[in-house]
Amino acid sequence: MSTPHLAARLQGFGTTVFAEMSALAVATGSVNLGQGFPDTPGPAEVLDVARAAIGTPLDQYPPGPGLPVLREAIAAHVQRFRGLVYDPGTEVLVTAGATEALAGAMLGLLDPGDEVVVLEPLYDSYAAGIAMAGAVAVPVPLRPPAVEPGEVSTAPWTFDPDDLRAAVGPRTTLVLLNTPHNPTGTVLDRAQLELVAELAREHDLLVVTDEVYEHLVFPGSEHVSVAELPGMRERTLVVSSGGKTFSTTGWKIGWVCGPAELVTCVRTAKQFLTYVNGGPFQPAIAAGLGLPDTFFAGVATELAGKRDRLVAGLAAAGLPVVSPQGTYFATVRVPGDGLAFCRELPHRVGVVAVPMSAFYLPEHAELGRDLVRFAFCKRDEVLDEAVARLTA
Ligand SMILES: *Cc1c(COP(=O)(O)O)cnc(C)c1O
Repeated sequence: MSTPHLAARLQGFGTTVFAEMSALAVATGSVNLGQGFPDTPGPAEVLDVARAAIGTPLDQYPPGPGLPVLREAIAAHVQRFRGLVYDPGTEVLVTAGATEALAGAMLGLLDPGDEVVVLEPLYDSYAAGIAMAGAVAVPVPLRPPAVEPGEVSTAPWTFDPDDLRAAVGPRTTLVLLNTPHNPTGTVLDRAQLELVAELAREHDLLVVTDEVYEHLVFPGSEHVSVAELPGMRERTLVVSSGGKTFSTTGWKIGWVCGPAELVTCVRTAKQFLTYVNGGPFQPAIAAGLGLPDTFFAGVATELAGKRDRLVAGLAAAGLPVVSPQGTYFATVRVPGDGLAFCRELPHRVGVVAVPMSAFYLPEHAELGRDLVRFAFCKRDEVLDEAVARLTA
């Protein structure tokens, strides 16, 4: 047998730093503001449906595209909040989290050598998904606003329109967007999305937009999907998931909506990845998607309070902080190296964060070298404890 080795496609994709930091949190008894998962259960209306479904035929394989009740709920939800109409029969696909929707889109739509324009920093699965498809990521930098130590900027991380225009070339086939954006907390505004749409129409590009934080948007910002813009529905796949909205990140119920031809490409890949997942969780997420508007507004309001708590605490600790427009992450610049800072912080003060170099392409890790991300999807007392430790 020859020596086992990591496939060339996956060179540079080692174990994620999230695993290291979460292990460090456990080993040191630290407050874990690293990996972004909530520490409170989701709404009872959702959890109860899953509990009742276990032990019934829903434990068996759901239909390949997802349970009809969930596909109908997804279509009704995207129509209610985005005004977009999709046929639950052919234009909605349930996936194993947004992660599988994204991987399935890359595998189902890209040929080797195709170029994918993507905002950088980027969620860590994007680069791997693009690489597994044999395609090439072309990054457009998002840059943080200038902030003094101990101060809070409400200006968002943003990109230069010329950088976006320059990233589109003859081999570009797809633009991969994420709004609200992890890790920066930027909510792309209509003008930024108009530019993406203009380039997509002009160069006949597909767009995949990851909107898992669609409901985690704070007052002053508004979530808009690029699929809502003229001429865009026909070339866009909208990806989302129940994990962030309903505090069920372990359930891995995600979905993709788009024109039937594009959804079919994703389904073709998806059926050989997981085929299906989460039988009892599918009707539960359907129930969640049908909750009244007040539920979704409440999620954002509650989280806005947590944002303000953590952001104020990080500033009080003397760090320069960017307050996010959406998501549950705040970013700071640290003196020196972010990875070293994050490795020391649990020992020094008992708090875990993640270095943002993990969100840059391997060849660009230097760009995120002194940046660190903190999650605030935690109980208020947990956030207060973290702040007390950081300011001590
Ligand atoms: C959490 C997250 C995902 C993954 O969603 P799942 O439904 O858990 O697969 C995808 N994209 C972004 C930007 C995320 O933060």
